[in-house]
Amino acid sequence: MSVRVRFAPSPTGYLHVGGLRTALYNYLFARRHGGVCILRLEDTDRTRLVEGAMEKLIESLAACGIEFDESPLKPGNHGPYIQSERLDLYKTHAEKLHQSGKAYFAFDTAEELQAMRERRQEQEGGGGYDRKKMRNEITLGAEATQKLIADGADHVLRLLVPENDTVEFEDVVRGRISVRSGDIDDQVLLKSDGFPTYHLANVVDDHLMEITHIIRGEEWLPSTAKHILLYDAFGWEAPRMAHLPLLLNPDRSKLSKRQGDVAVEDYLSKGYLPEALVNFVALLGYNPTGDREVYSMQEMIDLFDLSKVNKAGAVFDLQKLDWMNFEYLKNLDPQRAARELMPAVRAAGYDVDADYVARCFALLRERLRFTADLLTVGDYMFADPREFEEKFRKKHWKDNTAELVQPFVEQLRRAETFDHESLHKLAEAYTAEHEIGFGKLMNPIRLMLTGKGAGAGMFETMELLGRDTCMRRIDAFLGSLA
Ligand code: GLU
Repeated sequence: MSVRVRFAPSPTGYLHVGGLRTALYNYLFARRHGGVCILRLEDTDRTRLVEGAMEKLIESLAACGIEFDESPLKPGNHGPYIQSERLDLYKTHAEKLHQSGKAYFAFDTAEELQAMRERRQEQEGGGGYDRKKMRNEITLGAEATQKLIADGADHVLRLLVPENDTVEFEDVVRGRISVRSGDIDDQVLLKSDGFPTYHLANVVDDHLMEITHIIRGEEWLPSTAKHILLYDAFGWEAPRMAHLPLLLNPDRSKLSKRQGDVAVEDYLSKGYLPEALVNFVALLGYNPTGDREVYSMQEMIDLFDLSKVNKAGAVFDLQKLDWMNFEYLKNLDPQRAARELMPAVRAAGYDVDADYVARCFALLRERLRFTADLLTVGDYMFADPREFEEKFRKKHWKDNTAELVQPFVEQLRRAETFDHESLHKLAEAYTAEHEIGFGKLMNPIRLMLTGKGAGAGMFETMELLGRDTCMRRIDAFLGSLA
């Protein structure tokens, strides 16, 4: 049987980092086994609809390199599956359950349900829907029920949960799980607006889409027993279950917005590289080899093993994400960095081409946190410095410095070639001849050319800036001293 999995988000308007991990694990599992990974939008909760959420979600997933086999990202294929377009299916299946006596209609109002909960809380210490005391098909009988429905009374359809039973299933991550059916509510399957609940639509779709493995977050574990009962009621075999560990804040509380961003879009717009974010998220649950942290998508696919996923919650450690991002930044293709930076370079009015930006990036990448930092950390690669770091200046520009560097400046002006190797040789010869340390010469040069105390190798910087720019800056600086 070939593997079929799905990512089934409710479109909330953003992609949660936990959602990204779920999508990724499904994707890796499908690719690992030559199977199919489906995108399905679970949008039957009409009160929570967000305009444009689906497009945003698909965009974020695509940015992270996660593609679905049946989605609009691949023209010609159908999908994603959108539950609100499949309402008739859920209705038909709900009717089947009703006809076979596995589900019943109920007419309770919100107030009646509230009163029931309060009463059960006080008298019985809690409990779910009290089917024997409420207004439903069981207490009213079939005839009265049909009449109420014909008269247009608001109603829902509930699952008749068997009494004194045990629901058992095997979770790939968590092992054998067993729940007493008495602890499971007679869940609503069809709401009064005619829409299915998450439970019904989810189970019907997973069955009809021939899903073999359900891989999702641990927060859905409590729903699983209900789903197993539904599969039983339909007479269907349930897919295999795998519930991924919770994501935690560093203080081990559940990952929340209060302690940092949770939206993938926010991380991407801050400048985290999608590959770094994906690699980081992939390790929230397990490490394929245990001896390293950086994996390409292909390696993650080749090594993916669902049975190795941990039960324990995984801490979402921003410092580790920063570290991961830096690892990717160090190896990022400079041409790609330049392509991403060009709009900002143009907006800032710098008259340079992508090739120049790529070379600047390659030179300075070790000093950046995000690609876009090139324009601040390396601002002097694009415009003459207007400010000069006071501390650095005080330390390296003494009364005799101008005199000391002057002959070297003239050598630069006349040098035959202006590549970093010849510049290096020139500086070596000069410092040897004048018997001064390298810093005595090069720190003042750095100050005049960049205004900053730290940066990439000076000779490479000079080569990239070019002779005209270097001389213009030096002359301006020396001229300002007069
Ligand atoms: N719609 C659920 C969500 O928003 C899907 C849970 C599942 O994968 O079954 O995450």
